[in-house]
Amino acid sequence: MKPRLFTPGPTPVPESATLRMAKPIIHHRTPEFQNVLRDVASGLQYLFCTSQPVLTITASGTGAMEAALVNILSPGDEILYVNGGRFGERWGAIARAYGVAAHEVTVPWGEAVTIEQIMAALAAHPTATALCLTHSETSTGVFTDVRAIAEAVRPSFGGLIAVDGITAVGAHELRFDDWDIDVVVTGSQKGLMIPPGLAFIALSARAWDACRRSALPKFYFDLLEAREAYERNDTPWTPAITLVCGLAETLRMIREEGIEAVWQRHALLAAALRAGVSALGLQPYGSPPSHAITAIALPARGDEFMTLLKDRYHVTVAAGQDELKGRIFRVAHLGYYDEADMLAVLYCIERALADVGHDHAPGAGLAAARLALQEPIRVP
Ligand SMILES: *Cc1c(COP(=O)(O)O)cnc(C)c1O
Repeated sequence: MKPRLFTPGPTPVPESATLRMAKPIIHHRTPEFQNVLRDVASGLQYLFCTSQPVLTITASGTGAMEAALVNILSPGDEILYVNGGRFGERWGAIARAYGVAAHEVTVPWGEAVTIEQIMAALAAHPTATALCLTHSETSTGVFTDVRAIAEAVRPSFGGLIAVDGITAVGAHELRFDDWDIDVVVTGSQKGLMIPPGLAFIALSARAWDACRRSALPKFYFDLLEAREAYERNDTPWTPAITLVCGLAETLRMIREEGIEAVWQRHALLAAALRAGVSALGLQPYGSPPSHAITAIALPARGDEFMTLLKDRYHVTVAAGQDELKGRIFRVAHLGYYDEADMLAVLYCIERALADVGHDHAPGAGLAAARLALQEPIRVP
């Protein structure tokens, strides 16, 4: 069988982007590359729904999270972050690495933080300078309603709202300017459909002001430097030229499909996959579910099931991490996926389940997904 990748990073790369990246490399201090940077800059603004610059840095997603914090914070600042999974926890770990106090809002894994929990935490830590959220918590498959939280806190909270959008950008509605949020980061190997190596960061006018005041140490990730270069269609250091060229192609594809259609497609594929696995008697894990990734409780003989899925059906999915190890598996549908891909992965899940003695009517998952794909989906 063909190898099929359903992981929340890396995600499949469209053929046209692969071909673009196969072209001979060009030099970065040339008008030719400046044209690519110009295209990418406008494509990223379209994707983030913003008129602010969206900077491209050479790093994985975590690099953009670190860049965000070291540029908006100063010694003595405090942040609030939500630990409802492995990635939310990372905001706190990065802040502490720089000696910044980080207060945790602890949420049981598999659940989303509520507005009430956020308001209570802000009341307990009124001097917090940043509230760090995770829009789609990849480790649990849970979606957080960043828009509603931003709306609720804005009237009383004068600090910055920073969002890890790493598996949300390109999957979930996200309107950087309209929602009045301050930082959004993402990575190339997620909804942007190119290989790992680039990360992106958008900052609001408020966040840029914080950058000008920031006194945490930084050099490579100095965003004021990056912004200065950006204004000249340039980058401060050698960029990952090849990836940037591939990105120009995937951003073109996103624009051609239309950002709202992209969000809609992710919602539809997620709903179809959930319907399919539920019809097989499996239990989707985590609520409310992300449109980028579906976490599913492992069935009996889960280890064998996972091995068969990989070795016999050549489907790569993600296992559970940390406390969810051995309890869930995660199927991504982020980026370059379509309806037939959902049926393919469901087919393989069905076969592997049958192989470990799971009882279900053959085709039950496919039929349920097929029906769900006909249901109209409204986003948000
Ligand atoms: C993948 C991911 C990250 C980490 O990104 P890296 O590219 O591995 O550094 C952070 N947050 C979320 C939500 C992710 O999905």
